Amino acid sequence: MKNIVVIGAGTMGNGIAHVFAMKGYKVQLVDIAEAALERAMATIGKNLDRMVRKEKISETDKANTLANIATSTNLKTAASDADLIVEAATENIDLKLKIFAQMDEVAPAGAILATNTSSISITKIAAVTKRPDKVIGMHFMNPVPVMKLVEVIRGYATSNEVTKTIMGMSKKLGKVPVEVNDYPGFVANRILMPMINEAIITLHEGVAGVEEIDTVMKLGMAHPMGPLQLADFIGLDVCLSILNVLYDGFGNSKYAPCPLLVNMVTAGKLGRKSGEGFYVYTPGSKDVVIADTFKK
Ligand code: NAD
Repeated sequence: MKNIVVIGAGTMGNGIAHVFAMKGYKVQLVDIAEAALERAMATIGKNLDRMVRKEKISETDKANTLANIATSTNLKTAASDADLIVEAATENIDLKLKIFAQMDEVAPAGAILATNTSSISITKIAAVTKRPDKVIGMHFMNPVPVMKLVEVIRGYATSNEVTKTIMGMSKKLGKVPVEVNDYPGFVANRILMPMINEAIITLHEGVAGVEEIDTVMKLGMAHPMGPLQLADFIGLDVCLSILNVLYDGFGNSKYAPCPLLVNMVTAGKLGRKSGEGFYVYTPGSKDVVIADTFKK
């Protein structure tokens, strides 16, 4: 495994490119938007600078990491000599099916096709390719350079050999891989999202306010962030779409998204990325301020 292609240069894609490049792999970072590629390289540069300041890496490590990453808007040429492609494009099933069908056409026959999807079925994605045994979930956590876990998801047809390769590769990246099977939400989001949804229902029913709910979970359960703040960080639209996958996949009303979450997403209150969710966010400020709607 030498040549890695990362598709999608957003929040996750730039982090994934960063960790592979830092371990000496040659990475081609692909996006449809040139601006996204420029933003991604700027973010990687900033994150590496922080690591240099904290003396975790040297200036030479930073330069070598950046030299290992090339950017492209052309999947066909980027993938032509790929050993592993990690797809981290927008969470949309039709888009992912299209990208995987295309990747299958252009990548070498032996290449492994991985997806960083948070919730879409690996088995469904694999079914649009002629190599379902070589399709696997490689679910990194946000922020990728910091978080240790990689949830490695085996689709119905994923081979033992490919699973072993991706488990080994994740360890080489300094991560801790955990192997799980392909059912809605896998493990991480099957457990996390109902907790976030329950926190929103608790708020919606007036049991307690935003600050109280987050404080109970931070101080009572030793969570670094309360569930409402975490939901803002993940993106409320992302939370809603994962809950819908769980609801549809299991057909169980316990996963039904809270109407307050649905309303907030419809109103464009998506959390940190839109500037407002349960909290409000001001660029450049780290203050945690409750949104006016939820102030008592
Ligand atoms: P994002 O919106 O930040 O970035 C997605 C990028 O994909 C954008 O730059 C977009 O231009 C690009 N893109 C769209 N169509 C494309 C195409 N056809 N070819 C190439 N690039 C294309 O999204 P994100 O938060 O980085 O999420 C990416 C994936 O990672 C999703 O599947 C998501 O579920 C998963 N994920 C996200 C998080 C998180 O906390 N954000 C955590 C774990 C997994």
